[in-house]
Amino acid sequence: MDHFLYRDGQLFAEDVSVAEIAAAVGTPFYVYSTATLERHFKLFDEALDGVPHLVCFAMKSLSNQAVLKVLAAAGAGMDVVSGGEYYRAKAAGVAGDKIVFSGVGKTVDEMRMALTGGIRQFNVESEPEMEVLSAVAVALGVLAPITIRVNPDVDAKTHAKIATGKSENKFGIPISRARAVYKMAAELPGLKVIGIDVHIGSQLTDLAPFEAAYLKVADLVAVLRADGHAIERLDLGGGLGIPYARSNDAPPLPVDYGKMIKRTLGHLDCEIEIEPGRLISGNAGLMVSKVIYVKEGEDREFLIIDGAMNDLIRPAMYDAYHDIVPVVEPEVAAEPAKYDIVGPVCESGDTFAKAREMARVGAGDLVAFRSAGAYGAVMSSEYNSRPMIPEVLVHGDQFAVIRARPTYEEMIARDTIPEWLA
Ligand SMILES: *Cc1c(COP(=O)(O)O)cnc(C)c1O
Repeated sequence: MDHFLYRDGQLFAEDVSVAEIAAAVGTPFYVYSTATLERHFKLFDEALDGVPHLVCFAMKSLSNQAVLKVLAAAGAGMDVVSGGEYYRAKAAGVAGDKIVFSGVGKTVDEMRMALTGGIRQFNVESEPEMEVLSAVAVALGVLAPITIRVNPDVDAKTHAKIATGKSENKFGIPISRARAVYKMAAELPGLKVIGIDVHIGSQLTDLAPFEAAYLKVADLVAVLRADGHAIERLDLGGGLGIPYARSNDAPPLPVDYGKMIKRTLGHLDCEIEIEPGRLISGNAGLMVSKVIYVKEGEDREFLIIDGAMNDLIRPAMYDAYHDIVPVVEPEVAAEPAKYDIVGPVCESGDTFAKAREMARVGAGDLVAFRSAGAYGAVMSSEYNSRPMIPEVLVHGDQFAVIRARPTYEEMIARDTIPEWLA
C-alpha cells in the first residue's frame, strides 16, 4: 500500500496534487511520500517484534538526506556500502552504532572513516579484506566488530544482475569454507567476530530462497559456536521484492518474512538485523514526466516523454516493468491506447515500455511511473547533458524540494578548463 491515489480525478501524493507539484517544480521529477516510507519501515520493525533486532535501511536504494532523516527519526539503522553513504548516514544524524558497512571492496580510507566515526559492524566479504581491516584497526588502537558474509549458494530466482547468493557471484565467502575463514578472523588482532551476514539478492518474490539460505545459516551458527566463536548477531540482508505491476501476484509480506525468520533463526538467541532497501523506498516514490509528442510510427504509436533512461535506468538496465499512469484519472469506459513509451535520449535502449496499454494521453499531459522510489534517483545521471531531475518530499498537505534541479550553468560549472585551454 502507498499514498499515491486518485482523488476527484487527479493523482495525489498524500494530500498534495501531483499536477500542483509539477506546476511548481517542472518535469520530470521524483516525488516521495513520507507516510509510505514510515509505514514500510514500521512493517519490518513490527514483523520482528519479540526478537532483539535492528532494521537497517539499505540507503543505496534511495539516499536523499531528507529521506534518511525520515527513516532515522522512525528508528532505522542504516546499511551503507561506501564512504559517501557512511558520510550521508552520519550527516542525517544516525549514530555510528546503528550503521553497518557492507560491500565487497571497502578501501582503507573507508575503513578508517568508519572506525573513527563509529560503526556497528563491518560485513566482511574476503580474507584480504579481513587482513586490511585488522591492520587499520590495530593502527588506530581499536577492535573492528565484524560479521563475515557467507555465500550460501542458493538461487534467488531473480534478475541475473541482482542475484548475489550463487557461488558464481562475487559476494561473500563460500559457506563451505566458513570454518577456516572464521578461524583466520579470530586470530587477526584487530578483529572482533560477532556474527554472520548473508544477502542473496534483490527483488525476491518468494520466501523459499531466503528460507533455504537462513536454514544454512542456522546450521553454521551451531558449527561456529562449537568451534568457539561468539555468534551473537545475524545480519540477514535485504532483498524482499515489491509488486511492480498491480495486476501480478503480490510478493510475500514483511509480516510473513518476519515469521519465517523467527521460525528458522529465532531459537538461536541472536540479535537479528535486516537490510531492506527496495521494500521501504520503492513504492514510496513516483517519477513524474510530461508527454512531449505522440508520434505515429509505421506500425505503432510512440509516446515521447521528457523523462529518459538517464533519469530512471531500471527498464534499460534490468528489463524492469513500471506501471505508468496518467496523472488525470482516465474514464473507466475509455478505450485504451497502445504505446511504445520512450525518452528523448539518443539510444534505442531509452525505452520504458513496449506495446503498453494505457489510457490515451496527448502532448502536454503528465504521466507517473509508479514504484520508482528505489534505484531511481540514486542511479540517475546527466547523460545527454540532461540536468539531474529534482526530488520532492511530501508530508501530509506539504511538499518541499529536497534536491533542486541544477541550472545549465550549475551543471557545467563542475567541469574546469585547464590553464592551457583558457
Ligand atoms: C542491495 C543490498 C541490500 C538491499 O537490497 P533490496 O533489494 O533493496 O532490499 C541489502 N544488503 C546488501 C548487502 C545489498 O547489497
